[in-house]
Amino acid sequence: MYKMQRLLIATLFIGTAVSANETHHQHTAHKHATETTNSTEAATPTPTDEKTDNEAASVDSDATCQVSITGNDRMKYNIKEFAIPASCDEFTINFANVGSLPKTSMGHNVVIAKKADAQAVAIDGMSAGVQNDYLPPDDKRVIVKTAMIGGGEKTSLTFPTDSLEKGGEYLFFCSFPGHFFTMQGIITVE
Ligand code: ZN
Repeated sequence: MYKMQRLLIATLFIGTAVSANETHHQHTAHKHATETTNSTEAATPTPTDEKTDNEAASVDSDATCQVSITGNDRMKYNIKEFAIPASCDEFTINFANVGSLPKTSMGHNVVIAKKADAQAVAIDGMSAGVQNDYLPPDDKRVIVKTAMIGGGEKTSLTFPTDSLEKGGEYLFFCSFPGHFFTMQGIITVE
């Protein structure tokens, strides 16, 4: 026990001595010009941690203007709803098809339409064919649409939020034939 304490004290002393040496070394170059203020400068802590905190905070605020969605081979998204905060001028959907089946048999996308329009858009889209990602071309009911992607693929889309009304009822869904009922969710526009 006594030995442990001595070791600890010795370690602490070495640590203090090293930092004191470093401090002294940094000031050696300016010694003649700053000699009278050296003691106060040595006592001033260096603010290295503050920068890290600020960077983390800015990443967090950006994260609220985007959502990550995945779709799988069982015709399911990973989430059933997401919100678009009022503070976001633009919003980004990061979408990944995490399945392994090709686009021709298990393609997925993320389409946004008014809740009242969504099912009709999905039905009309079936006859639009694969070349149109199963969406009626130039259909104004389609507010946002990502690319249709197959297993292992990713896509990202950023859109202006002024195309969505605050408090409006919107759905996001997959327009691949037969996917509408299992691949849909609610969007809250704050
Ligand atoms: Zn799908």
